[in-house]
Amino acid sequence: MAPHPSQILDSALDAVGNTPLIRLDNIAAEEGLKCNLLAKVEFLSVGGSVKDRIAKAMVLAAEKEGKLIPGKSVVIEPTSGNTGIGLAVACAIKGYSLVITMPNKMSREKEALLRALGAQVVRTPDEEPWDSPKSHIGVAQRLQREIPHAVILDQYRNVNNPLAHEYTTGPEIIDAVVSTPASSSRPSSMQVDAFVAGAGTGGTITGVSRALKKAHNPECIVVGIDPIGSILALPNSLNETEPGPQPYVVEGIGYDFIPGVLSRDPADIDTWLKTNDEEAFKAVQRLMRKEGLLVGGSSGSALSGALTWFKTDQGRKFAQTEGMNVVVLLADGVRNYMSKEWFLDFALHSDKVQSDDTGLEA
Ligand code: PMP
Repeated sequence: MAPHPSQILDSALDAVGNTPLIRLDNIAAEEGLKCNLLAKVEFLSVGGSVKDRIAKAMVLAAEKEGKLIPGKSVVIEPTSGNTGIGLAVACAIKGYSLVITMPNKMSREKEALLRALGAQVVRTPDEEPWDSPKSHIGVAQRLQREIPHAVILDQYRNVNNPLAHEYTTGPEIIDAVVSTPASSSRPSSMQVDAFVAGAGTGGTITGVSRALKKAHNPECIVVGIDPIGSILALPNSLNETEPGPQPYVVEGIGYDFIPGVLSRDPADIDTWLKTNDEEAFKAVQRLMRKEGLLVGGSSGSALSGALTWFKTDQGRKFAQTEGMNVVVLLADGVRNYMSKEWFLDFALHSDKVQSDDTGLEA
């Protein structure tokens, strides 16, 4: 565990994780939920996302194993951006050079942050399949061959990715739930009854699931969220779409291959649901307007997936049972997406009251 925040921290790496679990009471009331709807708010980690945790864990483990040598190694990583930002924080502090390969689709904000932290960024075409030499993964592999002392920590296969969540994200959620007393106005089962998260590499959902099911509540239901157009959901029939590519705008979740760290065991991930951009961005808007949470697009996917799950046979009994604790993971913040159309559309153009017809004096 990182030191208590009231102490002086040794570096920004000690401000990774330890994020709050926050009630979504207003949305729960609107939905008629009797359970506690709780959000694990990861944009409050130092680099702004859930991926800070794995960046820190992978760098520390690689140093311990002698794979990363200060003053010598160059870190390269293919990423949708947030792992890159987490690595850039660690590399800035530790003095490593960092090269990030990232598909064009990912936001300019992420690229700007990466460059601001001192990383180099190479953009790659969105349409290249993962195993093409031109994809973000293919380009990272070529750069590794070309750059002396280059190391790819490889979030897609590195065991420290799910382990970071099994050791930190999961236990933090459990701690918060078991240390919050139940009361007559706030009933609680005193355990985590269900957990909902999107999957990119799948490290978050796999690691948190293991923490919850192994050490806490074997009956906990874990729900994976996958955008339409991606192939991570099980059973595979869920991934069947209309012919042709189905690009989605939400960043950080979904892939065209199954990452090695994503558990395929239905005992780890009980249920999968598919979501689309429209419902994800509407859910982001609700998280902002009803709960004051400045989250990114995949957080909207996770919430909209959770709300859909509450209407399924499996989810209904959780929705309607007082005291059940259902946790939704909100992976990053809107800082990463402030120039994106989906954000500006509702932030600037969806006001019920326009600034010029409020009747207020300037
Ligand atoms: N949301 C966002 C915004 C992300 O950047 C990521 C990581 N790609 C995820 C969700 C999914 O996390 P994981 O890779 O652990 O499945």
